[in-house]
Amino acid sequence: MGKTDGATDSAEKVIRIAGSITVDELAQALGLAVTTLIGELFKNGIVATINQRLDFETAEIMIQELGMTDVKLERKNTASKLSETGQRELSKNAVSRPPVVAVMGHVDHGKTTLLDNLLKKKTVETEAGGITQHISAYQLEHDGRKITFLDTPGHEAFAAIRQHGAMLTDIVVIVVAADDGVKPQTVEAIKFAQGANAKIIVAINKIDREGADVERTKAGLAEHGLMPEEWGGDIIMIPVSAKTGEGLEKLLENLLLVADVEELKADVEIPAEGLVIESHMETGKGSVVNLLVTGGELRVGEFVVAGGVYGKIRTMTDFRGKPKGKAGPSTPVTVTGFKDLPNFGDRFLEYKDEKSARKAALLNAQGAADDAASANVTSMDLLRMMNVEDNSKVFNVIVKGDVLGSVTSVVDSLKLIDTKGEVTLNIVATGVGDVTENDVYMAAGDNTVVYGFNVNVPTNIAKLAARDGVEVRNFRVIYELLDDARSSMEKLLGEEVVETEVGTMDVMGVFRVAKTELIAGGKVTSGKLVPGVMARVMRKKEILGEAEVESVQKEKIDAKELIENEVGGLMMKTEKKILLEVGDKLEFFTREKRQKKLGE
Ligand code: GDP
Repeated sequence: MGKTDGATDSAEKVIRIAGSITVDELAQALGLAVTTLIGELFKNGIVATINQRLDFETAEIMIQELGMTDVKLERKNTASKLSETGQRELSKNAVSRPPVVAVMGHVDHGKTTLLDNLLKKKTVETEAGGITQHISAYQLEHDGRKITFLDTPGHEAFAAIRQHGAMLTDIVVIVVAADDGVKPQTVEAIKFAQGANAKIIVAINKIDREGADVERTKAGLAEHGLMPEEWGGDIIMIPVSAKTGEGLEKLLENLLLVADVEELKADVEIPAEGLVIESHMETGKGSVVNLLVTGGELRVGEFVVAGGVYGKIRTMTDFRGKPKGKAGPSTPVTVTGFKDLPNFGDRFLEYKDEKSARKAALLNAQGAADDAASANVTSMDLLRMMNVEDNSKVFNVIVKGDVLGSVTSVVDSLKLIDTKGEVTLNIVATGVGDVTENDVYMAAGDNTVVYGFNVNVPTNIAKLAARDGVEVRNFRVIYELLDDARSSMEKLLGEEVVETEVGTMDVMGVFRVAKTELIAGGKVTSGKLVPGVMARVMRKKEILGEAEVESVQKEKIDAKELIENEVGGLMMKTEKKILLEVGDKLEFFTREKRQKKLGE
């Protein structure tokens, strides 16, 4: 253990991004004023605001254009974002922490029995209820010191931990039955421990059995590179019986001894962090998540993010289900409060408030979505933006599809909608699977539409969306989805005012000129006059003002209309006084607002 990734070359500055970065963030990372970056983008024909997200390629081009040859842009897979930390460098204030121990071995060699026995022996009598569900980690006490045990239900679990790069196991106890010797999974366990850089202690089990042969078992282990101490090697091997309990005290003693030699430490004055070791849904509780704290102290009420999921710790209990106010390094806890199920093996981190937690989760989720299909504003999109005068004409969408292929075809088809540069399509995120709480959160507040294609929208998600004012639109036919997107984009264009000329009149008499009222008479010279239309008052080429025709009279009786060549009177409302005179002309027109169409 204790390796840092060491990837950074001191001559180069490495900026890792999840797939996209905002103009503001990039400027900060480059140590530039944001205006400098916007200026550079502009020079390259990209009109961007500070919150605009640049895709990887655009950001890379900009760095080149700026001549910053010492800066390297790297793709960061967000799944590893929180776990790539591996081991952090410790501060002077680091305190010692309990060892984290995993018990591994071939099936039936006694792992479960060993853990059960230790648990019975070493945990304070379980109160009513006791352990009700499968627990993935325990904490025992020996000589007043704690030891954390990870239960390893399957090897795939370890494979996942390994994949996430978080080597959290300090010591691996390899259980090998003395009457059976080294078996394939024993070898696997040895390899895992070595790969994880963990210390190894061997428990040679079932020594109470008749066919038990401790020496032969040691020989078998030696063949696989584990040399017992008593043979001059450095591996502690303890004969035990998980059944009778023989040797178990000695095993625990040795675990603590190894922990002492290793000087296992952790910082507590940092935001809490650790690993998700199990998660499942429970009725009435929501997501129930087992965490192993590796640094800092986790408390009820704190905000945490694991992968694309965030939450506020609502309840926290130890492995026996006893409430726990805070949990320090190497402590396994069960918490509720995550908004969704975080993935096993995800690293979790504490955030100072809900806003930053939510944002971090979004970025993680977004990075993960980037991997699924191309997302975010691409350089193409940005170029298109040049023609968009008003940045509010950006159509934000999240696309969820049943399979990756459908996500890709929806995204590609959306991009083909010809908006003639009037609306920019911004694909905020894409993903495979049902619409989730996270999609809704991501869409909230940003006028983002969540499109589902061949997926489900669970009722609770639909409710959440309704509450947050998020539009979730689910389709089974791609053309219908595209039609909807097209009309949504048209709506963004807003309304336009259309004026239609309906007729003209020569003013032949002026009967009343008040502040907001005009009464006049005249002859319709073209078209017709109906109540309700607008009138433009013209004196030669000059517009004196506008009025609204309230009523029309023909032979002193209210009329529905006056047609060409008919003479009559009209009453108009005005906003300001118009000094109408005989000889002026009235141009009648209607004024309508209507939805602008794309490409007109
Ligand atoms: P796992 O598959 O490695 O978890 O193995 P289990 O703990 O389930 O043990 C498999 C079988 O071996 C069970 O029937 C246990 O009772 C038995 N067993 C485990 N440890 C011992 C031991 O120390 N002595 C004897 N006699 N039987 C044991």
